[in-house]
This record gives sequence, structure tokens and C-alpha cells, in this order.
Amino acid sequence: MTPVDLHCHSTVSDGLLPPREVVRLAAGRGCRLLALTDHDELGGLADAADEAAQHGVRFVNGVEVSVSWGKHTLHIVGLGFDAANETLREGLAGVRAGRDARAVAMSESLARAGIPDVLEGARRHADNPEIISRAHFARHLVERGLAKDVKSVFKKYLVRGKPGFVEHEWARLHDAIAWIRGAGGVAVLAHPARYEIGNETMRVLLTEFRRLGGEGIEVVSGVHGVHEVARFGRLAQEFGLLASSGTDYHATGEGARDPGLNPDLPLGCEPVWSRWLEAA
Ligand code: AMP
Ligand code: MN
Ligand code: MN
Ligand code: MN
Repeated sequence: MTPVDLHCHSTVSDGLLPPREVVRLAAGRGCRLLALTDHDELGGLADAADEAAQHGVRFVNGVEVSVSWGKHTLHIVGLGFDAANETLREGLAGVRAGRDARAVAMSESLARAGIPDVLEGARRHADNPEIISRAHFARHLVERGLAKDVKSVFKKYLVRGKPGFVEHEWARLHDAIAWIRGAGGVAVLAHPARYEIGNETMRVLLTEFRRLGGEGIEVVSGVHGVHEVARFGRLAQEFGLLASSGTDYHATGEGARDPGLNPDLPLGCEPVWSRWLEAA
């Protein structure tokens, strides 16, 4: 195991624990280097950094930017940027602004499918009114008894082709990478196995991602199995990308692992985090 976690969420987006508690949980499990990466939002970073310092955990600013790339939605994790950077902050505010109208449309579509009043219920789960995510819809639909857990509720209602899914334009890949780099950070392609992208399109994506200034890829992720770790480890080396590692923690019981530790990177991968450990 490696005591590094560069992808996790708090109540500032769609996690269930406040930033300080995410840090405490990771520290308690022996984490030495942590990034909080809430969706499209930097509001948890100051608390998380302060808490990390109290526990002797090295902290790196993080964010997970929602991006539209053709018909695909991608997530780009930004790491190690200056959180005061105005262009980054304005860019993220623009991405957040689209979420509310999308939530209204999702709720209307679910109502047409016979499930009324979902918006109010989902909003009750969203701590930060600017970030209403499908995870909040999922928790509400589970509470209404429409599926047994968050995973099955996504399958039944919230993925493309299902009544709770609406198409949405997120940030452009080019802009997301530019905001992160412009603020001094590193852009990392999050959980690549999650996208329904075939081998050939994945190569097109990695080529374009690199050309636009992307530097890293999550090889180890809470949503990757061993085969996916091996596959993206090879692709990282082939495309000259640094390897990242993150649990994508949202809530205990909802995902694969608690925050803090991740399986080791495959041999031959260059970790994206060397620069922050050396600076420590
Ligand atoms: P959004 O950005 O609003 O589209 O919501 C995306 C979030 O929904 C992800 O960050 C996860 O928290 C959650 N999510 C997406 N797909 C699934 C899934 N299949 N199972 C559980 N959670 C998911
Ligand atoms: Mn999420
Ligand atoms: Mn994601
Ligand atoms: Mn995430």
C-alpha cells in the first residue's frame, strides 16, 4: 500500500463527511499525502489544509472538474494549484452555475416517469446548494425506496438513457486543463476506466489530453480493478503520463475504500506526487 490519496470528496460537493473529517479519517489510516478534490469547487480546501497540518499530513490543493468531450463526460482532477487564482475560480463558478438548471431538468424528467418531487428531496441532501450532483439524487431515491442502494439507483434511473439523466454541457477539456495549469497545477485524467470509451477512442483522448497540457492519469483508483490498474499503468507509460492514485472516497459504505491508502502503482509508473513529497 502507498500512504497517498489524491482523490476524495467532502460535503462541499457530494461526499458525506465535512472536509476536516475526511482528513482525520485519512490521517487515522496512515495517509501521509492527501488532496481533497471536490467537484467544481474549492470551498473545502482551507479547512482540509489546516486539519492536515494538525495531523502531520502533507496536503495538496485539489479539485475535480466536470468536462464534456464530444458526447462523453470526463472528470479532470487538478492538483497542487494556487486556490486564489481568479481564472480558475471564475471557470469553476461557471461550471457550478449549470448544475442547478440541470437538477431541475432531471427532476422534471423523473416526474414525467412517475416519480414526483425529487428536486426538493435531492436538495435536502446537498450541503452546498451550488453543487447538486447525481449522488444527491441517488441518496434521495434510495431513501424513497426506489432501489436498494446508490449503485443500483444509478443503473435504474441516473445513467444515460434512464429517466433521471439529462444531457449537459460541462467545461471544455481545453479550458479545464488551461485553468488548472494557469493556476500552477497539474491536470490528471480521473478514473479512466469509468468512461464508456473503447480502446481506440481512449488513445485519441490520451493523445489530445497530452497535447492540451494534461500531465497525469489515475492508474490506481477506487473504481479500478486489478486489470484496469495494469491497463492504465501501461497506457501511462506509453503516453508519457505521470501516474496518480486516489480512492474517490465519498462515503463509507458507498464506495470501494475509505480515504488514505491505495494499492501500490505498477512497476515502471512514475508517481505524479514526487514533487510534493520532495518539497516536504
Ligand atoms: P454528477 O457530477 O452530478 O453527474 O454526479 C457524478 C457523481 O455521481 C460521481 O462523482 C459519483 O459521486 C456519483 N456516481 C456516478 N456514477 C455512479 C455509479 N455508477 N454509482 C455510484 N455513484 C456514481
Ligand atoms: Mn461524486
Ligand atoms: Mn469522478
Ligand atoms: Mn471523484
